Amino acid sequence: MNLSFYMPTKVLMGTECITKNSELFLELGKKALIVTGRNSARMNGSLDDVVKALEMQKIAYSIFDRVEPNPSSTTVLEGAEEARRFSADFIIGIGGGSPLDGAKAIALLSCNNLTGESMFSGTYPGKILPLAAVPTTAGTGSEVTPYSIITDVYTNRKRSLVSPRLFPVYAFLDARYTRSLTVSTTINTALDALSHAVEGYTANRCSELSDLIARESIYILGGVLVKISSDSTIDLEIREQLLYASMLAGQVIAQTGTTAPHSLGYSLTTHKNIDHGRANGLLMAAYLSFIRSAQERKVSSILELMRLESIDELKKLTDRLLGEKEMLSSEEIESFSSYALQTPHIKNTNPEPALDDLKKIYLDSFS
Ligand code: NAP
Ligand code: ZN
Repeated sequence: MNLSFYMPTKVLMGTECITKNSELFLELGKKALIVTGRNSARMNGSLDDVVKALEMQKIAYSIFDRVEPNPSSTTVLEGAEEARRFSADFIIGIGGGSPLDGAKAIALLSCNNLTGESMFSGTYPGKILPLAAVPTTAGTGSEVTPYSIITDVYTNRKRSLVSPRLFPVYAFLDARYTRSLTVSTTINTALDALSHAVEGYTANRCSELSDLIARESIYILGGVLVKISSDSTIDLEIREQLLYASMLAGQVIAQTGTTAPHSLGYSLTTHKNIDHGRANGLLMAAYLSFIRSAQERKVSSILELMRLESIDELKKLTDRLLGEKEMLSSEEIESFSSYALQTPHIKNTNPEPALDDLKKIYLDSFS
């Protein structure tokens, strides 16, 4: 067996895990820049808890609360400037995947003069500030991945900063913070997590160990997603399962990367303003149909773990959860597919899709 598995993030999960473990912040430094989104961290209690923990340890802090959904390269350069101005010696990211990715990029850019193309080069020889991550959505798993997805303002494309040094040192998972999520954001982010587990499980870069974690994540998400509907209330126990499964799925893609749906989904987000998780959810059934001929055993295993009879049943589930779909023109399908074909996700997909296969995934997903 060949295996390579690197997961340096220490995960702490449970109610009040931040204040109960406040001394861990002292290991990261004496001055923290808190990186977060515009509103939600103030409303869901996560920012209060982080501030309380820092005050308990007499750690100075400043707050950069300007990270927008799908954060831009301009925003993270501003955040890096703020980290330098404050002489931060560590970063705490609080929020959904956007602020967590913003925090990772800021940790890197505050110590390295990287603008334009060099930001996405993947070669980062300089120092990186240590980072703690507090997810408040249950979907991206960014708290345990070495990726930061940033919208490059020069190309208007979502691009990845990738380095093992971008793994957070600590991830604090307290499901209470996710209670304020709307049902639709809960659904979209849960489908992102499912997409990570499914893509990681079927990726060329999968391993026995990543598969083991992926199966557990798919099993949990399959059990939860059937219980959610647009008018349901989602209790804390379910929210905790979603957060746990999302973290597991993050551990999967940290090893395997993602496959075709993520590259097809990026254009839906940048050009059609479709949420990241929703985009992946829309594409999932057609992706599974496409890979089925090459990966019969794994596709059957995914359906079995989700307690579904067929891909059609999975499509009915995602259709029910996602409601009315957006429209895609044939020009959009052509241009988004051509773009996706150039991305590294394609070589990680089994079987490797050709342009017509990618177009068919879009067509089947939006019909
Ligand atoms: P998000 O873009 O971080 O947040 C979406 C919205 O949800 C924002 O308006 C945010 O408000 C709000 N929100 C966050 N937490 C909330 C809470 N507890 N209660 C109420 N509202 C809340 O969404 P996301 O889906 O988590 O992240 C998507 C991003 O992650 C994309 O850029 C995607 O490419 C990236 N991603 C990264 C990885 C990785 O490994 N690094 C993996 C997958 C996806 P505020 O703005 O006010 O906070
Ligand atoms: Zn994703």
